[in-house]
Amino acid sequence: MSANVARLRPDPDPASRRADFPAIPAGWAYLDSAATAQKPQAVIDAITRGYDRDYATVHRGVYARSADMTVAYEAARTAVARFIGAAADEVVFTRGATEGINLIAQAWGNANVRGGDRILLSQLEHHSNIVPWQMLAERTGAHIDVAPITADGRIDEEALIALIGPRTKMVAIAHVSNVLGSVADIARIAQAAHAQGALLLADGCQAAPRLPVDVRTLGADFYVFSGHKLYGPTGIGVLWGRADLLAAMPPWQGGGAMIETVTFERSTYAPAPGRFEAGTPHIVGALGLHAAVEYVERIGVGAIDAHERRLARAAREALREINTVRLFGPDDSAGIVSFAMEGVHPHDIATILDESGVAIRAGHHCCQPLMALLGVPATARASFAVYNDEDDVARLVDGLARVRRIFR
Ligand code: PMP
Repeated sequence: MSANVARLRPDPDPASRRADFPAIPAGWAYLDSAATAQKPQAVIDAITRGYDRDYATVHRGVYARSADMTVAYEAARTAVARFIGAAADEVVFTRGATEGINLIAQAWGNANVRGGDRILLSQLEHHSNIVPWQMLAERTGAHIDVAPITADGRIDEEALIALIGPRTKMVAIAHVSNVLGSVADIARIAQAAHAQGALLLADGCQAAPRLPVDVRTLGADFYVFSGHKLYGPTGIGVLWGRADLLAAMPPWQGGGAMIETVTFERSTYAPAPGRFEAGTPHIVGALGLHAAVEYVERIGVGAIDAHERRLARAAREALREINTVRLFGPDDSAGIVSFAMEGVHPHDIATILDESGVAIRAGHHCCQPLMALLGVPATARASFAVYNDEDDVARLVDGLARVRRIFR
């Protein structure tokens, strides 16, 4: 174990947390939670119970089982709302963050954005928070502005605020960068957006699993995240929107469950959030997400953040000692560490680490514009979660020593 890793304060109870995750065998360092998090037994049990004991549809059945499932589905919405400091009817279940942003770009965007209007993004955005806005710009003749990032990999907030003008309709930025781990000051940026009459959408995909999020304190107008990065199932995510904005937004998809009345002449729509949930929803996904939220709440997001930052800092310190490593992102990043190694493609790093039982991500991380700015085709990325510990950092560091030996 490297000296830097050994100096770490031990996590209060990492061993017992790891035991909550049956898909992580002993000796495997899973460092790809920014892509998707492993699932605690509580989530697996909630999903299993949802199918093998309690299964029925929601919102339609008059029999007891369906009524009970409706109560459970809506309880999941209430739990998510509590988790982010929102009201339940402001929480729309989506397939994930990607669908949430597409929903806003289409339903809100089509109704509110005109030719000549501007959408402000940042250089570090995920493709999910670029492409839907480009598609909106193509439909409407709006322009996309891009705020730069600082040398240490944060959104340059001064520059971003200077780019907000009277035609800016939406500022859409990541709360935490999935590549650099940098954390944006959403409250400050939201205030600046509002001062110019613009709205703020925060992509909370990487923030919701690792930072305390209170949408009112943040002052955001929309906030999206995915269940699967928050220890929940895939196929379920959250779009939070301010009640007055959701109330004024036209529906996105048409179908069952989102209507009030339908005739061949005309249909009327249900109030939010139902208006934005056409069709039979991912019922059991919501139950799994509910269990995930409760799991995270039991540990405390603040404790998870502190734990991950400690591991990220240790990883950075150890990697900095390797003179062929280039580190990306600020020293005080949330639990995500991207790096490159001179003369070794990130895919080779990841492949060799895999042979040592260390799973990291290598690639462009759905951030090609950021890769272009950094001047690399890809990075290697280690990301941390509740179940990681100092041994995982040590395995990463030892694995990188092996990469160096092989490529010497
Ligand atoms: N935004 C960020 C910052 C992300 O990290 C991701 C997932 N990598 C997404 C959006 C998209 O999430 P999903 O694929 O779950 O919709």
